[in-house]
Amino acid sequence: MSKTAAPKKAAKKAAAAPETTAPSLAFDTLCIQGGYDPKVSEPRILPIVQSTTYKYDDIDHVNRIMTLQAFGHKYSRTSNPTVAGFEARMNLLEGGAAAVATASGQAANLLAITAIVRAGDHILSASQLYGGTFTLLNSTLKKFGIETSFFDPDAPKAEIEKLIRPETRLIFGETLGNPGLAILDFDKLAGIARKHGIPFIVDNSLATAWLCQPFKHGANIVTYSATKYIDGHATSIGGAVIDGGNFDWTNGKFPDFTTPDPTYNGVVYSKNFPQNAFLIKARAQSLRDFGGCLSPMNAFLFNLGLETLHLRMPRHGDNAHALARFLEEHPRVAWINYPGLHPTGKKHIEKYFRHKNGGGILTFGIAGDLDAVRRFVKHLKVAALVVHIADARTGVLHPATSTHAQMNEAQLRAAGITPDMIRVSVGLEDVADLIADFDQALNAT
Ligand SMILES: *Cc1c(COP(=O)(O)O)cnc(C)c1O
Repeated sequence: MSKTAAPKKAAKKAAAAPETTAPSLAFDTLCIQGGYDPKVSEPRILPIVQSTTYKYDDIDHVNRIMTLQAFGHKYSRTSNPTVAGFEARMNLLEGGAAAVATASGQAANLLAITAIVRAGDHILSASQLYGGTFTLLNSTLKKFGIETSFFDPDAPKAEIEKLIRPETRLIFGETLGNPGLAILDFDKLAGIARKHGIPFIVDNSLATAWLCQPFKHGANIVTYSATKYIDGHATSIGGAVIDGGNFDWTNGKFPDFTTPDPTYNGVVYSKNFPQNAFLIKARAQSLRDFGGCLSPMNAFLFNLGLETLHLRMPRHGDNAHALARFLEEHPRVAWINYPGLHPTGKKHIEKYFRHKNGGGILTFGIAGDLDAVRRFVKHLKVAALVVHIADARTGVLHPATSTHAQMNEAQLRAAGITPDMIRVSVGLEDVADLIADFDQALNAT
C-alpha cells in the first residue's frame, strides 16, 4: 500500500464515521422508523432543520471537524440533521455502510463516478440507461477526459469483458434499465468487476431496495434518483449514493484513496476510513467542491415517502402487471415489454428481486405511425402525458421525441427504444379505471 507517511496528526487520529447502524429490524419497519431515533421529549417526526449553520464553543473542535478528525455538522452543504436522517434510512434499507444524499439523481451519479475516476480513466456502462446518465457519460464526462464504452446488458460475459482496458475504473448499470426495462444480470457484471479489481455501481432508482438490494448481488456502490419511488408523489428532486463498504480501494488502481489528501491535512481515505472510504471521500471532497447537496425540506419529504415505500411498491407492480396483461391482448398494441411478462425478466426477478414483482414501469408499441401515437396521448383522461415516472398518478411518455430525442437511431436501438414506444409509469389508481382509459385511447388511434 501507500508508504506516504500521513503528514501532521490528522490522518492518524481521524475518527470513525458515525454513519453505520446495525439493521436489526425488518425492511418494513426500517421504512417507517429507520435512521431516526428520538430521545425523550424530542419530536416523534424527523424535524426539518432549516439551518445552514451550527454553533461551536472552541476553535479546536471546529478544527477537528474541518480536518476529518471528528464528525459533526458544520455547514449544510456537506451535512445537515434532516438530510442525515434520510441518509441513515436509505443506508439501512440498502444494507450499506453509509449514504450521502444529493440534489438530484444526476448529482448522485456524477458524485459517485467522479469520486472514483479522473482524466484518462475509462468507464464501462450498460447501454440501457436513463437519458441524462447517457449524456453525462457519453458527452459531458468525455469533455473532462473520461471515456465510456457501452455494452448490451444481455450480451455474453466474454463480449463485455473484451471492452475492459487497463485504465477502466468502474462498471455502471441500472437495476432496471430506463426505459428498456432489462434487469441487470448482477452475477455476470459483478464477476467481471471483481476479476478486474474495479467497483460495480448500480443505479437502483426504478427497482428500489423493496425489490432489489444490489449489495447482496455484488454491487459496491448504489445510486438513486430519490425523485422517483422514494418520493413517490412527484414533489421533489433529489438523490442518494450508498457505499457498500465492500470494495478494496488499496489494490493499486485508486491512488486518490491510498495517498494523502492535502485538502484535509493528509487524510488517507482507505486507511483512516476502511469501512466507508468511498463515502467519506465523496462527501468530504465532492459535496464540498461540486456542492450538489440535498435541501432539508426535500430530505423531509423523501423520508415521508419512504414511510410508505413498502406499501406503494407492491401496488405499482400489481397495477403494471394487470395493465400489461390487458395491453398484450389489445389489437391496437404492436408489442409489450414488462419485466414480469418477459422470459429473461422473469428469470432475473426470480434470482435477484426480493418479491415476485416486475416494478411499476412498462413500455408498449402503438400499432400505427407517429400520428397514432399523438391521437392515443390526446385521448387519455386518467393517465397524463408527463416526463416524470414513479408518481402515484399514472403517466405516459413518448421517449423517442422527449427524454431520448438527442439520440441517433443506432443509439436509440442500443438503449432499447423504438419510434412507436410509449413508456407508462403505472400509478396507484384502481387498475380498472386505468384499463378503461387505455382502452378508449387506443381505440381512438
Ligand atoms: C430520473 C433518473 C435519474 C436522474 O434523476 P434526477 O433526480 O431526475 O436528476 C437517474 N437515473 C435513473 C434511472 C432515473 O430514472
